[in-house]
Amino acid sequence: MPAVVRVALPVPLARLFDYLPPAGGVTVGSRVLVPFGRKKMVGVVVAAGVEAEVAGARLKSVLRVLDQAPLLDAELMQTLAWAADYWLAAPGEAYANALPLALREARPLPATSEPRWAITTAGRSARDAGSRRGASRALLDALAELPLGAADLDVRLPGWRAAARRLLAAGLVEQRATVPAAAAPASAPPLSGEQQAAVDAVAGAFGRFQPFLLDGVTGSGKTEVYLALIAQALASGRQVLLLVPEIGLAPQTVRRLRDRLGVPVEVIHSNLAEGERARAWLRARNGEARVVLGTRSAVFTPLPQAGLIVVDEEHDGAYKQQEGFRYHARDLALVRGRALGVPVLLGSATPSLESLANVEAGRYRALHLRARPSAVHPPQVRIVDMRAQRLDHGLSPALLAAVDETVARGEQALVFRNRRGYAPVLLCHACGWHAECPRCERPLTLHAQRRALVCHHCDRNAAIPPACPACGDAELKPQGQGTERLEEALAARFPLVPVLRIDRETTRRRDAFEQLLEGLREDAPAILVGTQMLAKGHDLPNLTLVAIVGVDEGLHSLDFRAGERLAQLVVQVAGRAGRARKPGRVLLQTHHPEHPLLRGLLAHGYAAAAQALLAERRQATLPPYAHQVLLRVEAHQRVTVDAFLAEAYAALPVDPALRVAGPMPAPMPLRAGRHRGQLLLEADTRGPLHAVLRAWQQALAGLPSTRRVRWSLDVDPIDL
Ligand code: ADP
Ligand code: ZN
Ligand code: ZN
Repeated sequence: MPAVVRVALPVPLARLFDYLPPAGGVTVGSRVLVPFGRKKMVGVVVAAGVEAEVAGARLKSVLRVLDQAPLLDAELMQTLAWAADYWLAAPGEAYANALPLALREARPLPATSEPRWAITTAGRSARDAGSRRGASRALLDALAELPLGAADLDVRLPGWRAAARRLLAAGLVEQRATVPAAAAPASAPPLSGEQQAAVDAVAGAFGRFQPFLLDGVTGSGKTEVYLALIAQALASGRQVLLLVPEIGLAPQTVRRLRDRLGVPVEVIHSNLAEGERARAWLRARNGEARVVLGTRSAVFTPLPQAGLIVVDEEHDGAYKQQEGFRYHARDLALVRGRALGVPVLLGSATPSLESLANVEAGRYRALHLRARPSAVHPPQVRIVDMRAQRLDHGLSPALLAAVDETVARGEQALVFRNRRGYAPVLLCHACGWHAECPRCERPLTLHAQRRALVCHHCDRNAAIPPACPACGDAELKPQGQGTERLEEALAARFPLVPVLRIDRETTRRRDAFEQLLEGLREDAPAILVGTQMLAKGHDLPNLTLVAIVGVDEGLHSLDFRAGERLAQLVVQVAGRAGRARKPGRVLLQTHHPEHPLLRGLLAHGYAAAAQALLAERRQATLPPYAHQVLLRVEAHQRVTVDAFLAEAYAALPVDPALRVAGPMPAPMPLRAGRHRGQLLLEADTRGPLHAVLRAWQQALAGLPSTRRVRWSLDVDPIDL
């Protein structure tokens, strides 16, 4: 057998491919161009000088070596191999996730330095004279602080490009090739005792792997702890990776990091232009980037001089990728921390039950921040019993009175409802018919402004029927409330106060969300109506009332994680109130004021509620006290799904350590016109599960009906 190079190619096959080596040889971690079928593909060399698995005659040769030195270092190669194996990914897909798109092509690497935009002397005069407005003004303000690259500007001032063109033409800004010296860092506040203790604990673990869970209510100063630790890591010549769950949180964090640390901060997320993303990745690889801030996929950033990894809002489901390579960025951050020999700091006001169980088991060290340094008092939380109340569009008198008092004091109120649209159902009162998506068999949501019925599961749009299609009755009634209807009701009731709706509809434009929030930083009354988007991180100093409506669905869900999610959501949304000096209030409107989860949460807080939920999970041997793998299947015909699942079930090895649930229909048995089913494997420990998985996965690929279905395996699924 000849010696070959083994290559990971971006194809959805759980295998690697052998090629005859190029003349000059090639190193592991380098990219190569190889023939694949009739095409050429870029792959990553996973092994070199190994023995071929197939006969030599069929082997093709590497066409071209793209990197003389490995692009992926030994640590990343090892971590990716582990991750592909653990999450049952096609190896090529794991590498494809790790490499920015621009680096998956057979082109020279982009230069790592990009020109920065800078303000000119004329620009400073114009700014001092106040001669520009709007986006131009904002750009001049930003550049007056320090020169910025396009990637930075994209997160700080979306839509800045037009302003830059105008100002460039007027000679007020220019492009410079050099990397700027950063502004002098702002000074840090003296840390509280708890903050200092957390910093000391993590800093004491610099240079070795140790996971920490920093548990602190919103506003307790977690970010200050990160900042102090990042500064220490930088001072000792180390790089830091900070993960956040969504890009909406990046601009304010970037600003804070840059102001405090006085170093450029690389931002890596999937909305970034591909060239920018590749440049940032390469700057991290060559050590130029000292602090990398990013969302899920940034967990693959090379960190040759790693000192610390921080995962903020570690409980957030956005860290789990839900298609293709189904990795969890928090878990992968821990794997990297171990390989790199650095501490990993997970932070949250509402830690995941997984992380709490890891603390309990002694795998993570817990750090607590119990006080809020800046707020006078933690917000008061109260349940509003809405039974037997006269509701105005779903809003109780107590809730409306509280909104009234708040705006009368010149403060802001947030009415939180996690549902877009006008009403979740359009119903005929005469016969009970309701509008339904034929492709999902779920109610269509009425969107009044768009004058359409929309399926929130498959995005199908339908016209609003003028009369009931079943009985002809002319009166179809919207049932329930979405944010659009609440906005309308509140605007009618409080005509003198601006009512702002913040959801995916109103923030479709990239910069709309930031602009809406910017307007709210002022000290003027306003009523916000918003979804999930508002639950996270954003600082609104004049917001003193948070009213949460429509959480009751979460109390009756079949998903065993619903209780945990509801508790996290309530606590996170409540955390928006009273962030500044003004005391905050939270109202939770429900039909189930006696529900133990709500009672427990209000009386004893998240930590106690989480302990109760953990006890239930242990009792029921559910994660984190068991490990799951979910086989999902979908096809156009129900019989095809059932046939595949039956074959898959039969292909499972008999093992008393494995528990199997199903075959059964998925929680949504039909979605976008496809029938869906699933099979759940469970075991108390990972060992027996992982022992059977690869073989089973291969067996599934060879089943008679495998070509007629779409199927996937999800290791540690977070929604069933
Ligand atoms: P978290 O990340 O936990 O939500 P932050 O770190 O953002 O909390 O802190 C909340 C607010 O309290 C911020 O305005 C921050 O500047 C302020 N703060 C945090 N720690 C201190 C401190 N030790 N002294 C003074 N202010 C602090
Ligand atoms: Zn009818
Ligand atoms: Zn649908």
